[in-house]
Amino acid sequence: MDFMKNFCIVILIALTNLAFSQQKKYAVVIHGGAGVMSQSAMSKERQAEYKAKLEEALHVGENLLKNGATSAEAVVEVIKILEDSPLFNAGKGAVFTANGENELDASIMEGKNLNAGAIAGVKDVKNPITAARAVMEKSEHVLLSGKGASEFAREQNLEMVKNKYFFTPSRYESLKRLQKQERERTPADNTGTVGCVALDIHGNLCAGTSTGGMTNKKYGRIGDSPIIGAGNYANNKTCAVSCTGHGEYFIRLGVARNISALMEYKNVTVAEACREEIGKLGELGGTGGVIAIDANGNVAMEFNTSGMFRGYITSTGEKEIAIFK
Ligand code: ASP
Repeated sequence: MDFMKNFCIVILIALTNLAFSQQKKYAVVIHGGAGVMSQSAMSKERQAEYKAKLEEALHVGENLLKNGATSAEAVVEVIKILEDSPLFNAGKGAVFTANGENELDASIMEGKNLNAGAIAGVKDVKNPITAARAVMEKSEHVLLSGKGASEFAREQNLEMVKNKYFFTPSRYESLKRLQKQERERTPADNTGTVGCVALDIHGNLCAGTSTGGMTNKKYGRIGDSPIIGAGNYANNKTCAVSCTGHGEYFIRLGVARNISALMEYKNVTVAEACREEIGKLGELGGTGGVIAIDANGNVAMEFNTSGMFRGYITSTGEKEIAIFK
């Protein structure tokens, strides 16, 4: 009798531990843009700089998630770090429009309720991802653009800056070279869009993306990054996705939503869904990449360019930070 009782207690404890450890599962995945990158053309110091920033961002996400933060909180804080760095084409390091200004796009989506928020074509919000989150949480809309988005951000007491805050010499030179037609536009002219997807210990997914778009874009051009379903998507039933690359192709294919739909309707893994969708992107002539995570914390990072700044950390101790293929 005693043996049976002890046996039941041991089983109960084991089951409780199992449930607890499963509940505690979290992971964070980031990208800092896909594009033409060659190991020989990028100095060791430059590579180290990128990796250090990716690592810093990942650790911020990890610490938040470990301590019970929601995936939305983690996604916003991680993306803010990348937006504040001049290394990436988002926030501070945004590329220039043909008019010599910076117009920023960002979006966020939560997998638990399919709530989403986005802003497009803003010139004066220091951290566009915070404005996207405010649209999601504090408005009845999904996407605000231009002056209306800026006014909304100001009302929400978000940090506003002058457009010249986004000036960086290297991005400006890139614009000038393209405009003088010294060379063709390459995916390197846009590289640096940032994205983050996360699974929190409550079992919820979130995806966020932030970008300056494409160098020499027409003013008013909006890419895939703030378009829910194109450059960003999250659904607890399937996965959270953030895209980077030639936005027009991602919009036409509905890449982010397609990855979720492939998992839902064809029952494929997150990695298979990402591979299939990047395959279609290539067939159409588009370049770029995606990061994704499913509700069990499985991670995928797929791209058809020579590189994508990327990395992930999971609660099971897995970690990777990489640049080249
Ligand atoms: N997808 C972004 C855009 O088209 C650019 C990029 O990710 O490289 O605006």
